[in-house]
Amino acid sequence: MTHEPRILISGASIAGPTLAYWLVRNGFRPTVVERSPELRPGGNGVDIRADSVRIAERMGVLPRLRERATDIRELTFVDAADRRVAGMSTRTFNADGDLEIMRGDLAQVLYEATADDVEYAFGDSIAELIQRPDAVEVTFDSDRQAEFDLVLGADGLHSRTRNLAVTPEADALHHLGVYFATARVDAELGRPHSVTLYNTPGKVAGVYRSGTHDTATAFFAFRASRTLEVDHRDQNAQKDLLRDYFDDRDWQVPALLDQAVADDGFYFDAVSQVRIPAWSNGRVALVGDAGYCATLLSGAGAALAIEGAHLLATELAAAAGDHRIAFRRYERTLRPTVLRAQRSVRVSSAMLIPATGGHIRLRNQLTRLMVLQTLASRVYRPVTVRAA
Ligand SMILES: Cc1cc2nc3c(=O)[nH]c(=O)nc-3n(C[C@H](O)[C@H](O)[C@H](O)COP(=O)(O)OP(=O)(O)OC[C@H]3O[C@@H](n4cnc5c(N)ncnc54)[C@H](O)[C@@H]3O)c2cc1C
Repeated sequence: MTHEPRILISGASIAGPTLAYWLVRNGFRPTVVERSPELRPGGNGVDIRADSVRIAERMGVLPRLRERATDIRELTFVDAADRRVAGMSTRTFNADGDLEIMRGDLAQVLYEATADDVEYAFGDSIAELIQRPDAVEVTFDSDRQAEFDLVLGADGLHSRTRNLAVTPEADALHHLGVYFATARVDAELGRPHSVTLYNTPGKVAGVYRSGTHDTATAFFAFRASRTLEVDHRDQNAQKDLLRDYFDDRDWQVPALLDQAVADDGFYFDAVSQVRIPAWSNGRVALVGDAGYCATLLSGAGAALAIEGAHLLATELAAAAGDHRIAFRRYERTLRPTVLRAQRSVRVSSAMLIPATGGHIRLRNQLTRLMVLQTLASRVYRPVTVRAA
């Protein structure tokens, strides 16, 4: 590449804006295309840990992230009468200096840190992508056409970039047999500073209530022994499905459900990991959930998106225009961390969504005896690629 490389990033959530920031810092001028007409709000708290804290600090956004951080202190397991049966401090998962922030707040802060230097095109998407030896020809949904030297997919679990250029979705996604939904609800439904969880066999309903926010978020997860036919973009079908699964009248499930399905920011998806043999193909590479989603059960999605984006930009700068070297180094460095995060979900799914009544009682007992805390702190804390 003798000219300044033209780089397209698809997706403006966590990985996309972080990647854009570090590309700009390294002298590139990326463009970001985001399918949604505006920045997508929503989601529960996500953890910023270890290297991702240092990266956020170097981006100058750490003070703003700390201002908007949540103040959750405990995971509280309750029974049908709303009595606390066991609990776990959030310090189990986070070390000093780590922080938890609502996903939408994190996306907003990262976007604001880049909006002056990066061109964002909202409400559009890559429709077609043709790789030539010297460039990538992109046609957008809006029919606009343009050529780029590199296309970087930060477009999440159902990445279109991945599907078009790297691995078809059917081969990339590995469903964990769990479905998840979340939406905003009234703060009064939650316990202050707590993530409250109510389990029945194979199901959990819960409320996430941070004292630094006016509203709480409800979440629901359930195990299904077969794959459910539900379009990840058909919200009405998803809401019906959720109601079918949570038809019990226990605890405050009906109130949470009523409010959740009425919220515009309702989010539902099959909990799936992205496991693909290579994170790039030619001039196209993937970052964040698009390339290596570990799922929300790993608690590492945001940290891996930030660390991956920073690493990819750094390697592109270091390789002085040879994207093949950069993509190879990026993947080789990050893959072991991703695999560790992906493996960790076995512990969290057993802990958060025990499959039987016996498993629920065992989980509560192990929590009271502090056994699960010891295990969880070993499994979750080390999300470190290398010193930033
Ligand atoms: C609305 C929402 C709610 C979430 N809630 C939670 C949660 O509660 N807990 C949790 O742990 N994780 C949640 N996640 C996932 C979490 O954000 C990621 O695991 C992690 O932060 C990695 O982020 P990412 O930027 O790689 O991917 P994502 O955060 O998934 O972002 C992908 C972005 O790409 C955009 N996009 C998708 N397709 C296209 C396309 N064809 N063209 C252009 N843009 C496209 C999406 O609109 C989105 O903005 C949520 C994600 C979203 C989008």
